[in-house]
Amino acid sequence: MALYVQKFGGTSVGSIERIEHVADKVKTFHDQGHQIVVAVSAMSGETNRLIGLASDISDTPTPREMDVLVSTGEQVTIALLAMALQKRGVNARSFTGWQVGIKTDNSYMKARIEDIDTSAMRAQLDAGGVVVVAGFQGIDDDNNITTLGRGGSDTTGVALAAALGADECQIYTDVDGVYTTDPRVVPAARRMEKVTFEEMLEMASLGSKVLQIRSVEFAGKYKVPLRVLSSFKDGNGTLITMEENSSVENPVISGIAFNRDEAKVTIKGVPDIPGVASKILVPISDANIEVDMIIQNVSADGTTDFTFTVHRNDYQKALDILRDTATELEAREATGTDDICKVSMVGVGMRSHAGVASKMFKTLADENINILAITTSEIKISVVIEEKYLELAVRALHTAFGLDAEEETA
Ligand code: ASP
Ligand code: MG
Repeated sequence: MALYVQKFGGTSVGSIERIEHVADKVKTFHDQGHQIVVAVSAMSGETNRLIGLASDISDTPTPREMDVLVSTGEQVTIALLAMALQKRGVNARSFTGWQVGIKTDNSYMKARIEDIDTSAMRAQLDAGGVVVVAGFQGIDDDNNITTLGRGGSDTTGVALAAALGADECQIYTDVDGVYTTDPRVVPAARRMEKVTFEEMLEMASLGSKVLQIRSVEFAGKYKVPLRVLSSFKDGNGTLITMEENSSVENPVISGIAFNRDEAKVTIKGVPDIPGVASKILVPISDANIEVDMIIQNVSADGTTDFTFTVHRNDYQKALDILRDTATELEAREATGTDDICKVSMVGVGMRSHAGVASKMFKTLADENINILAITTSEIKISVVIEEKYLELAVRALHTAFGLDAEEETA
C-alpha cells in the first residue's frame, strides 16, 4: 500500500459539489488501503477576493496582515473537505500550516519552507485517518503566519510528500496532464505519459503554466515523483520523473514551448573593439532589465551590429537606453521591434542527436519563416521569429518531429 500526497487546486474545490467530488475521490484511494495526505488550495477566486478586500482598505497593507488575511482561504477548504470526508465515514482531520508544523523563513508573501514536523500527520495516518492540510501557508520562528506566493499550494503538496517520503505527489488540476504544446494552438497536441524534471523546468519557464515552477524544482531536488492529473476526468495524467529513458517511444523532442512576451533591440554600426558589449549591456542591467538572447554580427568594416531580446514590458525602456548608448558610442542607429515571439523545442533526447537543429531550421524554412535569433542549451533550442508566424511554426514543428496525436484533443 502506498502513501500519497494529493493536492487539489482552486477549481477542484471551487464549489460544495466539487468538494464533495474530491471527498469521493479521496475516499476511493483510502478504501483501497492507501495512506492519504491531502493539501488544498482556497476555493477558486477566493484568494483574489481577499486581496481585493485588502486593497479596499489600503494601497499599502503590511505584508504580515496580508498573510493573515490570504491564508484564511485555505482554512475554509480544509474544514469543508474534512466534513465531507467525515460524512462519508472516513476519519479525517484538518490541519492549518502551523498545526501541522510547516516552518518557513520570515519573508511574507513569498516564504520558503524550511522544515516540516511530520509527527501530527503520522499520528493521524497511523490511526487510519486521512490528513487534510491547508496549502500555501506556514509559520515563521516568531509564530507569524506566512504564505508561499501565488500558486504556493503546489509547493506545499511537494514539500509534504518530501517530508513524509511519499510514494507520489499527485497534483489534481483542471487539465488532465502536461501536453506536448498548448492544445489551443495545436489541436493535435498530445498528453505526455512522462516528462523529466529537467524538461518540465524548461517548459514551465517558457510558459507552459501547469505547475508552480518552484514546486517542480523542489520535487526534483528531493526526488519526489510528481504526477499532474485531472480532478474531473479519469486518467493517468503525466508523471514527472528523474528517469530519462523511461518512455517506450523515447522521442527526441518532448515538447514545444513558446512565449509571446518578447521584444528585440539592435544597435547598428558600433565600433568592433573590446569593451563594447559591456558598454551596451551595463546600462541595461543597471535599469534592471533582463536580457535573454544576445547576438553580435561579424564585422565587415570595423563596425558591427549587436542585438538582444528583452521582455516586452521592458521594450521601450531598453530602446531608450540603447539610443543614448548609440549617441555615446557614435553608432549608426538603435532600432527595435516588439512583434516577435520565441519558440523552443525541448527534449532530453536531443543530447544524443545531432541534426535536431538543422531539422528545425529546415522545417521553418520550408514554411518561409525567417529566423531572427537562435539560442541552444543541452536540451533546448529556441528561435525568435515574427509573432505572426507563431501558430504556423509551432504546428509545423509539432508535425515534423512526430509529436501529433492520432486524434485531435481539442
Ligand atoms: N490560494 C493561493 C493562490 O491562489 C494558493 C494556491 O492556490 O496554490 O495563489
Ligand atoms: Mg494553482
